[in-house]
Amino acid sequence: MSRSHVVIVGSGGGGGTLAWLLGKAGFRVTVLEQGPDWAESVERDGKTFNPAPHDEEFYRLRKPDPKRRLRGAYNTFRQTEKDVAGPFQNGWTGSVVGGGSVLWGTWSFRPLAVDLKLGTLFGAMRVGEISQAKRLQNEGYCVPDWPVTYEEFEPFFNVAETLLGVSGDRVAVDEAVMSAPWYKELQQTLGWPANGWHTPFAYPCKAYPRTPVGEMVWQILSKGGRTPVPLPAAIVSPGSSPYSTREALARALDAWGMTRPGLWSQNAEDLWSDRTREACNLCGFCGEYLCWGREPPKAGIQATTLREARLDLADLVDVRTSAKAFEIRRDPKTQRATGVRYLDLSDPDDPRVRRVDADYVVVSCGAVQSARLLHLSNIGNSEHQLGKYATFHLFGHGARFTLSKKFSGLVHGEYGHTGNVTCFDPYFLRETESPDSPWVKVGTLTSTAKKNPLEDGLKTFSDLVKKRAPALGPALLTAMERHSRTLEMRLTADDLPMEANAVDLDPTHVDEHGLPVARITRNFGPNEARLFKAGNRELRRLLDPFIARGIVESDVEIPDTAKVDLIGDHQMGTCRMGDDPKTSVVDRWCRVHDTQNVFVVDSSFMPTGLGLNPMVTVVANALRVGTWMTKDLK
Ligand SMILES: Cc1cc2nc3c(=O)[nH]c(=O)nc-3n(C[C@H](O)[C@H](O)[C@H](O)COP(=O)(O)OP(=O)(O)OC[C@H]3O[C@@H](n4cnc5c(N)ncnc54)[C@H](O)[C@@H]3O)c2cc1C
Ligand code: SF4
Repeated sequence: MSRSHVVIVGSGGGGGTLAWLLGKAGFRVTVLEQGPDWAESVERDGKTFNPAPHDEEFYRLRKPDPKRRLRGAYNTFRQTEKDVAGPFQNGWTGSVVGGGSVLWGTWSFRPLAVDLKLGTLFGAMRVGEISQAKRLQNEGYCVPDWPVTYEEFEPFFNVAETLLGVSGDRVAVDEAVMSAPWYKELQQTLGWPANGWHTPFAYPCKAYPRTPVGEMVWQILSKGGRTPVPLPAAIVSPGSSPYSTREALARALDAWGMTRPGLWSQNAEDLWSDRTREACNLCGFCGEYLCWGREPPKAGIQATTLREARLDLADLVDVRTSAKAFEIRRDPKTQRATGVRYLDLSDPDDPRVRRVDADYVVVSCGAVQSARLLHLSNIGNSEHQLGKYATFHLFGHGARFTLSKKFSGLVHGEYGHTGNVTCFDPYFLRETESPDSPWVKVGTLTSTAKKNPLEDGLKTFSDLVKKRAPALGPALLTAMERHSRTLEMRLTADDLPMEANAVDLDPTHVDEHGLPVARITRNFGPNEARLFKAGNRELRRLLDPFIARGIVESDVEIPDTAKVDLIGDHQMGTCRMGDDPKTSVVDRWCRVHDTQNVFVVDSSFMPTGLGLNPMVTVVANALRVGTWMTKDLK
């Protein structure tokens, strides 16, 4: 047993960021992380990054497991409340130090201001006689405004992008948003200011270069009358000088102005070390994977905030690995949490129960596991809101295609980071072809590719991969050729929150420790049907001319309806933030309404899911909440 000011459960996007901030402000922090420290084990084994050889076999195929799930961990899944849920392997981000930020694709979008005001927007948009808000309500949706405005978030978005070291072109992004057809019309409907949707702040790194697949998708979008832009990515752009977070942070603090709250009034030198991160060498081994740099080009919490905390604040921040929390203890008299009980899984065959006592408890396990832990602890559910309004994006919605033989050579040399071109035009699309039909909220459209030919080729020899036997010969070469040519345009489409889509405890299934597992209930409603239709029409419109000209093969894969159980990479909602305890789980400072010394800082707090990837929002929110904690808890 030990005592801390704050115990944080989960070391990913939210928890790892907050641990650094609180440690910096002098709090004694214990971080409980259920998984191992993957990055440390890789460095300890001496398998450090060598930028010289392009050795896909060593760096990619001999990688450790992706570390999504702990041994034996599973959720259950059902489509509707009437169904019986069955075991389900999806619904995990990362179970390692750094969480999903180790495996992520680094797509680093901040939300658009409109994302935080969807309730107002749908209230103002008509569909026949009624508002869109009314139609959505009749269909079972509940789409609120966020209780915190974009302006309140803005300086924290700037700092989040700085700590992650995002590469991008802000001018291009802002112009692309403002030139989109939906923007012009909605700007007038809602009376948004004509001079833009926020105060622009330059990305700290120059835009990531366009790879061959990125160039192809750029052409497809441009020829279709859309405005492609470089994808903001949390990677130090190839060819750059080493990235100094400290120098970039000084610029973010400058932009914030003189009245900075809490510890942000300090100088960048007091806040961040002089460590730098190397530029990406385009090796192409990232994506669901750890970047192999000692000072890695690819950002992750383990490579940024948590690294600072562990190297410079070790006397204050104690990160315990293989520590799986199963109960937040609460004193029934005071209604306050007193600490956390966890299983020490250092030897998974001999788990030990341990305890950390603390003044404050922070839950940051990802939206599925946070809801599970709070349910297990009987905290946060006095108004029966816990776990509800889960959203997961429409993962898998997009187009996968190949170039015809004549042109396939254009993308044979795909390298570097997956995904480097994006587009905001489909953020809202018309429901039908008619120019007067209502707008549907869709999302960003981004290029990506299968770019590891050996790995992709070997997938067809799965028995050989399992045995780690060398696979050589013409069959492998053919497989490599075929797989390396696949291009994708992926929509990060926004499934809107419904009360019935929820995470609770499964009544019958338990994990290997006898604890009920998380049960995910998720279905699509009429809005998602409209969204698929509009998204698919847009993808067809963009690709058909390229098929007609014989550039793209005609067997384009576009799912009619994506599978409702495509759940995992992005998980949001479940501990909705709001001012009213009757309709939300946490308040604007992410404090649980019914237990005021418990906070939730992972992606669970998000009242709506955004049409883009969530990491920057999660990190910015942890910085916002942490700033409040450091001022108000002392
Ligand atoms: C393959 C992949 C690609 C992605 N790509 C992108 C992208 O390109 N852009 C983007 O914005 N987002 C991306 N994401 C999503 C992003 O990683 C998450 O949104 C982000 O990590 C959320 O942070 P979080 O704090 O909510 O949770 P996480 O980062 O998932 O952290 C949760 C942590 O809690 C730990 N934990 C869970 N339960 C317990 C427990 N009981 N006790 C102790 N520890 C526990 C987990 O092991 C994990 O480390 C991707 C995710 C994945 C998996
Ligand atoms: S391509 Fe990816 S893994 Fe390779 S150096 Fe760049 S960021 Fe790291």
